[in-house]
Amino acid sequence: MSTKQQALFIIFGGTGDLAKRKLYPALFALYQKGIINEHFAVIGTARRPWTDQHFQAVVCESLPEQDTTAAKKFAAHFYYQSHNVNDTEHYVTLKKLAQKLDKKYQIGGNRLFYLAMSPRFFGTIAQHLKSQEIVTADGYNRVIIEKPFGHDYQSAAELNQSISKYFSEDDVFRIDHYLGKEMVQNILAIRFGNNIFNSLWNNRYIDNLQITLSESLGVEERAGYYETAGALRDMVQNHILQIVSLLTMKMPTTYSEADIRREKICALKALKVYQPQEVAENFVRAQYQAANGLKGYRQEDQIASDSQTETFVAGKLKVASENFAGVPIYIRTGKRLRQKATRIDVIFKPVPGNIFADQNLADNILTIKVEPEGKVSLQVNVKKIGQGYQLQEQQLDLSPENRNGQQIAEAYEKLLLDALAGDATNFTHWEEVAYSWKFVDAIRQAWDNSQQPLVEYPCGSMGPKQADELLAIDHRHWIY
Ligand code: NAD
Repeated sequence: MSTKQQALFIIFGGTGDLAKRKLYPALFALYQKGIINEHFAVIGTARRPWTDQHFQAVVCESLPEQDTTAAKKFAAHFYYQSHNVNDTEHYVTLKKLAQKLDKKYQIGGNRLFYLAMSPRFFGTIAQHLKSQEIVTADGYNRVIIEKPFGHDYQSAAELNQSISKYFSEDDVFRIDHYLGKEMVQNILAIRFGNNIFNSLWNNRYIDNLQITLSESLGVEERAGYYETAGALRDMVQNHILQIVSLLTMKMPTTYSEADIRREKICALKALKVYQPQEVAENFVRAQYQAANGLKGYRQEDQIASDSQTETFVAGKLKVASENFAGVPIYIRTGKRLRQKATRIDVIFKPVPGNIFADQNLADNILTIKVEPEGKVSLQVNVKKIGQGYQLQEQQLDLSPENRNGQQIAEAYEKLLLDALAGDATNFTHWEEVAYSWKFVDAIRQAWDNSQQPLVEYPCGSMGPKQADELLAIDHRHWIY
């Protein structure tokens, strides 16, 4: 994987926030590691009339170390082309520039097209890449696309069709950056690399799963988009359901893209799609209210004063698979919560029969902290040191030891490297997207047709009390 790569990156939306905050630093990290080196170039395209020099200065500014020789040498591989994606003429110029750079850097025809702009342009771009022959015959041609992939199943299917007319599924890399996170990737290692977990990973031994993706920030500058999306579409359809699929999928035959994706698709297909009454019983939607000196959602800029957009979702998912039938999966995500954290708790069933009759046994809980700190721990019961026979709970730290003191790579760095290597394991297949939307659409439709108002939660809390009641009714509680 860490062999040298040669590729021409064509980034649509090269002046945008994503490109500056994530893509250029990630490419620089690959450059620093020597993975991309001499044989690469980047064409940034957007509407603004920038020069190459200005673009290179912007790229340098986006890097953690801006003024070093390495940063300047890296930025010298960047070229800018003013480009309106709807203008066919612009693709003709783009093709010439691509050919010139391919020759100059001896790239061998490998092209990665990164669509870092609104999905409404994806179809047009894909069509022009083919019709104007910007795709090459002598190398690979891969398209990397960003979320949101549609706003429901129908729009996602249309979007997919507009791309798949020109690119095969194998060449489409749909980013879900949670799949690039070290501790999310660790889920399969923990599950399938350890018999103690693998053999217990089913409804005989697992009581429930809990997934929390909490954000401390509010809607910030993404208000326009967020108003039309809400937490269900923004976080549940992609990131949370991807984590659910990794937690509930069966063991793949091999650790390979095809086998893993097949099992993930089955896991998502096995999610129970709810009827409206079941949505009301199993899902809570809420909006943050002013508290602790912070504005409420409806007071934020560009947000309607009567907005019905949810900034928080909690839900109980059911999986109709042999191994997970009967195991509730509680999920929760929201903005303006107590702190930023991504965390998974696997709660095991109690020992059948407690011989320590007068003492409570703590649950065995496997916790995977994805963010902010990547940690894995297991809660067990042990004897308290000393006279008598008391038990105490103990946290076993299972966090991976970083033997070489390596910096944990940022998700985008890992995913860009995967895309360069043609490995789509950590990207979402169209069928995963399709099943995820079908699950989410049923909830969205039930909410849209419901008279039930949104509930409220104060900024800085962990959500509304209804999210706690969702578990309390099952005699459970949130671990985090
Ligand atoms: P942005 O608005 O900052 O950038 C959009 C880019 O598209 C700009 O470079 C703009 O010049 C260009 N553009 C717009 N219309 C154009 C046209 N007609 N022709 C050519 N160029 C045009 O957006 P962003 O935040 O960088 O997001 C880009 C995409 O990535 C969006 O789909 C977004 O949902 C997704 N995304 C962004 C983030 C993030 O952190 N910013 C995270 C996840 C997903």
